[in-house]
Amino acid sequence: MVNYRPIPEWLKKKIRARDKKCVYCKIPFKNNPTDRAEWEHIDNDENNICEENVTLCCKSCNASKGDKKLMDWLNSPNKKKKEINEETVTNIIKEYIRKHSL
Ligand SMILES: [Zn+2]
Repeated sequence: MVNYRPIPEWLKKKIRARDKKCVYCKIPFKNNPTDRAEWEHIDNDENNICEENVTLCCKSCNASKGDKKLMDWLNSPNKKKKEINEETVTNIIKEYIRKHSL
């Protein structure tokens, strides 16, 4: 068993206030099962806990992205939501791509 570091409550609070819609497809979060917000680590490293890497995305994007690398997923023709690409994602993801020169 791998014990991942939990996301601290203060950070969760901050990110919940920031990410009101899916960082990938921009669907507003609701409480129904498909549009519920899920914690997402952009680089898939659950131990990389910082404001730049931890975001909220919808269940559908989370399931579609899985453990794929961000750019692989965004460029993948097989992803569920074909309209998502590096131009359509939120500024949080754009900033991440810019900072990491992806
Ligand atoms: Zn989404």
